[in-house]
Amino acid sequence: MDNIRSVKGTKDLLPHDTIHWREVENIIHQFMAVHGYGEIRTPVFEDTKLFHRGIGKDTDIVSKEMYSWTDQGGDNLTLRPELTAPVVRAYIQHQMGTLRPLNRLYYIDSLFRRERPQKGRQREFHQFGIEAIGSPHPEQDAEVITMAYKIYETFGIKGLSVKINSIGSAEIREPYLATLRDALNSVKSALCNTCQNRIDKNALRLFDCKNPACQEILDKNAPFIFDHITDNDRSHFGRVTAILDEMGIPYDHDRKLVRGLDYYTHTTFEITSSTLGAQDALCGGGRYDKLVEELGGKSTPAVGFAAGMERLFIAFGDDGEHEHSLADIYFLTLGEKATQKGFVLAEEIREKHGVSVVSETLQRSMKAQMREANRLGVQFVVILGDNELEKGIAVVKNMDSSEQEEIPLDKLSDHFMVDGQE
Ligand code: AMP
Repeated sequence: MDNIRSVKGTKDLLPHDTIHWREVENIIHQFMAVHGYGEIRTPVFEDTKLFHRGIGKDTDIVSKEMYSWTDQGGDNLTLRPELTAPVVRAYIQHQMGTLRPLNRLYYIDSLFRRERPQKGRQREFHQFGIEAIGSPHPEQDAEVITMAYKIYETFGIKGLSVKINSIGSAEIREPYLATLRDALNSVKSALCNTCQNRIDKNALRLFDCKNPACQEILDKNAPFIFDHITDNDRSHFGRVTAILDEMGIPYDHDRKLVRGLDYYTHTTFEITSSTLGAQDALCGGGRYDKLVEELGGKSTPAVGFAAGMERLFIAFGDDGEHEHSLADIYFLTLGEKATQKGFVLAEEIREKHGVSVVSETLQRSMKAQMREANRLGVQFVVILGDNELEKGIAVVKNMDSSEQEEIPLDKLSDHFMVDGQE
């Protein structure tokens, strides 16, 4: 029979990986806690309508990449392809806006998009991100961008680059789009099919096209939305950049950086790392003042970012095997009685000191157990055979120094007192 393998574009995380993931997740949890952000976890699947309304029907994600199905009861469901819409849905559903004027939320979760898998691009992947819901002011944009930058700095990621732009407030959108369409209509036939369709449907998204020929045409012909924003929009942007300057966050103003959906307003930003290669985006974010309303809530301004976890690991240069110890102490026991006693002593050490202790359950030879201890990367091996049991001692081997000492069994658990313990 054929072996069943994991689905294309998905990855298993094995114990050596999960240790590393947990360390990174813990740093993210801590980082969020010191910034006053609370964790939110939403279901893996949602009503498909949420993403039609919350991402936009003519985006690639919704039109081509969602895992959607109709269940046995006839409900149309979708595995979440992003987390902002689910977080906003939960915010509205639980009336979080009535509890406090500003909700600072973050998540670390998996999501699903049927994209073409390649390095840094999977079909199931993970993001951490924040959504600050409630403040229309530039200070909030600056807080979000600063946090995105600082977390990569905390992780020591090299080659960071922050691009930011403003697409202004909602009322300038239609007149600007009319100008953009006028400017592009004469060169329309030279654009790719997707761009040609977008001119009428959603012209702002032309700037997202990856086709170099389209980019060249845009560079030559397209007016930038930034040049059409109002004075108020400009002062919002100016205040965001002034705070970033004050905070020492380096950034470039990229007039082509847009978020092409109606509910995005004002600030857009992206952080890349030159260490990443072709898929160089670490995170993207911006202000989405119209989304809460679009999803049925009371009009509420919001700003956030979403950051790829897998990209972060690639940026660490840490894509492969990790050298991590999986236990602190290995109980090498020989014979039934010694193994039984070893179980009791191992539990005593765990309970007293909270260190990780692994017992033998495969009845292996001494040599095979030593090999296992090395594989696990333990610091100490406790050797207990029938001879030792008779003498009331165990041999403790320090795996770093290779020194061995005999310890009376009734003193064994105290021998492993961790520094700082009484
Ligand atoms: P987005 O939700 O598309 O704005 O993406 C936000 C971040 O998630 C990107 O900057 C990437 O770091 C990461 N990302 C997006 N798509 C994928 C994917 N298919 N596989 C892995 N990471 C991804």
